[in-house]
Order: sequence, then C-alpha cells, then structure tokens
Amino acid sequence: MQASNQPYCPLCTSINLCGVNDTTKPCWCTLEKVPEALIQRVPDAEKGKSCICQACIKKFNLVGEDNFTAL
Ligand SMILES: [Zn+2]
Repeated sequence: MQASNQPYCPLCTSINLCGVNDTTKPCWCTLEKVPEALIQRVPDAEKGKSCICQACIKKFNLVGEDNFTAL
C-alpha cells in the first residue's frame, strides 16, 4: 500500500497512529483486518489516503454495523 500522508483517521478524525510512513517497521494496519463495511464508510476522497484508526475498528467490531456511528 502507498504510504499515507494523512495521520488522521477519516472516520473520527483522531490521530490514527498509522505507521505506514515509518519505514523501520510495518504499521499495525497492515496486520489488522479492517472490515469491508467499515472501509465503505470512508469518504471516496479519503480512500487509500488515510488509515482507519484502531479505535474505530474496535468500536465497529464491538457494536456491529447497525449501531455504528462515526464520531
Ligand atoms: Zn478512527
């Protein structure tokens, strides 16, 4: 995946702690499985540019798709 220049989660706009710009170690986002339905929530302009943060993935997995609301 191309390195992101945007350190913010596109869903909650918190710092996503993505490490794709850190070439010394792989980012957690390359290991974590991001639900397809969650990726669908990323605005088209942001897709492939910024990582969804771990908090949003965890929240999504906890509450399920129906009740999920991006903050
Ligand atoms: Zn987030």
